[in-house]
Amino acid sequence: HDDAGHQGIPRTLHLARQRFFWVGLERDISDYVHTCSRCVVAKTAEPADRAPLESIRTSAPLELVCFDFWSAEGNKKKNVDVLVVTDHFTKLAHAFPCTGQTFHQVAKKLWDKFLSIYGFPQRIHSDRGAYFESKLLKDLQVIAGIEKSHTTPYHPSGSGCVERFNRTLDNMLRTLPPLAKHKWPQMLYTLTFVYNCTIHETTGFAPFYLMFGRLPPA
Ligand SMILES: [Zn+2]
Repeated sequence: HDDAGHQGIPRTLHLARQRFFWVGLERDISDYVHTCSRCVVAKTAEPADRAPLESIRTSAPLELVCFDFWSAEGNKKKNVDVLVVTDHFTKLAHAFPCTGQTFHQVAKKLWDKFLSIYGFPQRIHSDRGAYFESKLLKDLQVIAGIEKSHTTPYHPSGSGCVERFNRTLDNMLRTLPPLAKHKWPQMLYTLTFVYNCTIHETTGFAPFYLMFGRLPPA
């Protein structure tokens, strides 16, 4: 629990069950997480009126990729923007520190860190809206050196696709030990990895498993 970003009871339980068994495991873990002082102090409560996250249905990886921004204070009191990219079907998430939020900066980061590895998705969605997405797609085609992609912008009512990961990330970063806290941009990749390797409430599988068909060795 302490080493895996102070995740909640179901997630911690799943991580433990992959590796250990003892009588009373469930109760012990539940008690431990309930009384973890770092969690009690740092975590924000789940919003009570949360919109249903699963109004959008997807049936394959890269059918719909959502991206958004998240930001927090980094070193030297400077705000760091983080580009968060989530595959809707697998829930695989990636978070990349960004120097800005212009079309070009976002397009470049998306290509370098995500699309050049996974390929173009069928649809993209961002809370920035259709204009942002179409401008971004044009930039992406230039950067990727293609004239046309089959990717289209997508605007479902009520997204919430990235929102859950953002909150998990937020909680993970808040529970970092004080010394590590201001170094959170360096922790971003590790915490994202932990998130991807942990069972997701809505799919019942770890995002990593759904995307790659195997779990990384424990
Ligand atoms: Zn904790």
